[in-house]
Amino acid sequence: MRYRVCRKTGDRISEIGIGSSYMYEAGMEEAVKALRRAYEGGINYFDLAAGDGSTFPIYGEAFHDIRENVFFQIHFGADYTQGTYGWSLDLDTIKRSVEKQLKELRTDYIDYGFIHCQDELSDWQTYKDNGIYDYILQLKREGVVRHIGLSSHTPSVIQKILDEADIDILMFSVNPAYDYGHGEYANGSVDERAQIYRRCEKEGIGITVMKPFSGGQLLDAKQSVFSEALTPYQCIRYALDKPGVLTVLPGAQSVKEVETLLAYYEQPEEALDYSVIAAFAPVKASGRCVYCNHCKPCPAGIDIGLVNKYYDLAKEGDAMAAEHYRSLEKNASDCVGCGHCDSRCPFRVRQSERMKEIRAYMDQFER
Ligand code: SF4
Ligand code: SF4
Repeated sequence: MRYRVCRKTGDRISEIGIGSSYMYEAGMEEAVKALRRAYEGGINYFDLAAGDGSTFPIYGEAFHDIRENVFFQIHFGADYTQGTYGWSLDLDTIKRSVEKQLKELRTDYIDYGFIHCQDELSDWQTYKDNGIYDYILQLKREGVVRHIGLSSHTPSVIQKILDEADIDILMFSVNPAYDYGHGEYANGSVDERAQIYRRCEKEGIGITVMKPFSGGQLLDAKQSVFSEALTPYQCIRYALDKPGVLTVLPGAQSVKEVETLLAYYEQPEEALDYSVIAAFAPVKASGRCVYCNHCKPCPAGIDIGLVNKYYDLAKEGDAMAAEHYRSLEKNASDCVGCGHCDSRCPFRVRQSERMKEIRAYMDQFER
């Protein structure tokens, strides 16, 4: 397992986590085994926006003895008081739901308390008006909530809430279909979505990824918007390549499914290559580097994806990215203009030209 550190909280979080939407369907015994296998495999981050309230006793059983070693995302707005999942903006309902979850999880604190599922600006206004955000802040002052998260599918709403609230972590739906305008939650333009990634990276807000397979559609050739089914590994790599992303949270219901996810780290590089999506890039996205490194190897030894990522972030005012760029062993100044990357890039990026642009920009910075 590899880990990434959330800059706002200092937590060291596994690149692969677990989402819990359908975990309850496995039943207590199999689900507990799956969670323990995940933990043994190094997974330490778990989202608890569950499809059913019976998920919480499962987590309580699996992790009560190692609670301090795992992180839970708990959602203020997910209502389990009636058993199954419901969405609520009622403060008393949310209080009762959170108390029930804590009891069943056999814990007395929440690592990441989430402002849950805000897809409309009116939801956020109601959330504040009804005192739910204040309630989370109060629990944070009392030490029950350690950090504050936000879950949303909508870039414009995310921007507004990041402006107004002190968010440490964002749960966002990230996959190539949504980023290219396909699917139920393909909210926001290519640019608006890219701005979310860059803002989070710049401000140290970690992104935890929901719906990395677009609800499974990307894994099915008949449903995928691309010319073929993608693998879970291609989707995980795609999400992890985005600025700001800390962890990807696919669902898993059995030991076998957990082991399939853990096998991500055993895949050869070519099995992680998602450049097939390039043929479906909308006109606006064509010519933009997605940091995929399909154009490797560079004879000058430049990590082309990383150089481009730091450049895009530096242009957004991310001083840390500029610093990271300067500490690279090889950067745009080492480009010999061979054009290999131009001929290899499926996203039609004229990378040799872009290297000149990056060099000029970064040189200016140095002076
Ligand atoms: S230049 Fe093209 S192939 Fe290379 S990292 Fe960027 S998008 Fe990927
Ligand atoms: S043009 Fe520059 S960045 Fe591209 S492969 Fe050649 S040396 Fe590397």
